[in-house]
Amino acid sequence: MAWQASVVASVLLLAPAAALATACPPEALGVARTIEIGTQGGLQVGLKTYPRSLALGDHEIVLTFDDGPSTQTTGKILNALSKECVKAVFFVVGRNAEALPFLVKREVAEGHIVAHHTFSHPAETLRQMSEQAAQEEILKGFDADDKAAYGTASGAPKVPFFRFPGFADTPQLVAWLSARNIAVFGADLWASDWLNMTADTELGLVLARLEREKRGILLLHDTKQQTAAMLPALLRELKQRGYKIVALAPGENPPPTRPAPEGWTSETDRIIAEVFAKERAAKARRSAVEGAPPAPPGSSPGGTAPAQSEPQATPPPDMRK
Ligand SMILES: [Zn+2]
Repeated sequence: MAWQASVVASVLLLAPAAALATACPPEALGVARTIEIGTQGGLQVGLKTYPRSLALGDHEIVLTFDDGPSTQTTGKILNALSKECVKAVFFVVGRNAEALPFLVKREVAEGHIVAHHTFSHPAETLRQMSEQAAQEEILKGFDADDKAAYGTASGAPKVPFFRFPGFADTPQLVAWLSARNIAVFGADLWASDWLNMTADTELGLVLARLEREKRGILLLHDTKQQTAAMLPALLRELKQRGYKIVALAPGENPPPTRPAPEGWTSETDRIIAEVFAKERAAKARRSAVEGAPPAPPGSSPGGTAPAQSEPQATPPPDMRK
């Protein structure tokens, strides 16, 4: 009968909202504490790129997701986080946010932090763009993200947290962001989920790296199927192994940081140099084949990369390791 069908439909529609509204079950992973991040004068954290990180305790983890939102996977990621009552930081790509504002709004509504990762995630990376084009990419991203998340943008991002695509920063851009009181987040560890692997392989890899480091800002991609597939198991395993999730929030005071161990070097700079060298070599080979003179080493296009029609859901030729 019609009314029965309508009651059933109403119950089905209400069920997810009701489930979200219920208190966290005791077995859920939950958030152990929140670190307030004051960004006055800038801040750069994440040992893969910078010689310091947040002062996380033993077994404390910050969850971060890059490159979204994506219709295929971000909803699944949010469901998994919600089920375990944990909060994450989403470094969203502006044009993806612009295309899928309902997912960005859902991130905000469910208590996550919407942070920034440029407008178009340029494949060449900001390091190979002119400073002005790179700044425009960043500012356009802030605007698109805030409009998607909150309906308005003021010129200064509501959450002053930024991550460079491929971690390809420059001293000039870091100084420019610092002058605008924007914190730059690197990562302490990652899942290498830009590589194709099964969810099980990725889970094993992340857990092994965590067991070695015992703490850190973890980089994942909410655009990756394998990451969405393994996240529920990862969160369960973290709970069982005694890990604690730490949430971040914009705040007034600079957070405590811990310095890198002695002998630290930037892993991302080493990888970026390798990737750029390979790209230059490939370009030179192509030019030689076509009979054109090879581009001089280090040359790069000066302007903004042409906009691609599809939102780019994958990282640039970045961390291949
Ligand atoms: Zn990225």
